[in-house]
This record gives sequence, C-alpha cells and structure tokens, in this order.
Amino acid sequence: MSGFINMDNARHDDQREVMQASANAGVCPFDEEHLPTYHKTPVLRTGTYWVITANQWPYEHTRVHLLAIARQHVETITELPTGAGDELFDHVRWAIKEYDIDFGGLAMRFGDVKHNGASVNHLHAHIIVPDKDKPADAKVKFKIS
Ligand SMILES: [Zn+2]
Repeated sequence: MSGFINMDNARHDDQREVMQASANAGVCPFDEEHLPTYHKTPVLRTGTYWVITANQWPYEHTRVHLLAIARQHVETITELPTGAGDELFDHVRWAIKEYDIDFGGLAMRFGDVKHNGASVNHLHAHIIVPDKDKPADAKVKFKIS
C-alpha cells in the first residue's frame, strides 16, 4: 500500500527510507497517531485543525522551514472544515513573531499526490524563509507537479 505517499517526490535517501517504512506499515505518516513514528522534529504548536512542526528535511537555502500539517487526514482544501484557513494564518502570524520573519513564502499543494509534487498525500502547508546569506544565484525551489 503506497497510496499515502509518492516516492518519486522524496528528496533524500533517509527521507525515502522513512516513507518506505510508512508504506510498508500501510499507514499515512502524517496521521496524528503515526506522526511520532515517522516525524522526528518536535511539534511546536497544536491548534484545532493544524499542528506546526519543523520540516524534517528542510529545503536547501532556508533559515526557517516549518510545516503546518492538518490534524485530520484530508487530501485537498475542500475537505477542510470552515475555520481551518483562519487558523492557518494564525499559525503563520505566530511563526512570523517567533522566528523574527520579515519575508518568506506560504505554500500548499493539494489533491492527487501523483500529480501535485508532494511526497505525502495528507494536506500540509510549508512556511518557508530563505536564508539571507545564501549564495546570490541560489533559489529556494518549491516544486508543484
Ligand atoms: Zn494522513
């Protein structure tokens, strides 16, 4: 069973191993009961609809890379309850303060993981802050597709 992940979108060998382990167990690695097994960075905040945690495999050239992971297993935005969007922005406001962020990006893929570019088929958003000291020609890349 590998419907919860898309191995093609893994970026690191150890990430691939963790994803494979969750696939072998037949579980979604972002479901709350399985998150402690497959996600080793601490949960920083828990809301009604989202948990906030650091990305285990931050993108290259980032100073901050957080994930907002939906607490319910949903795969697309239309499955989210009313209020989840407002709460997501609350978490972003918290992160802006907590990490002294003055620029960055909020990115979320949704829908079919075969096509959207995500590695886990469980709705999550990325809060991404590029490193000011990165090489001038280096870009933080967020892939969709
Ligand atoms: Zn899930």
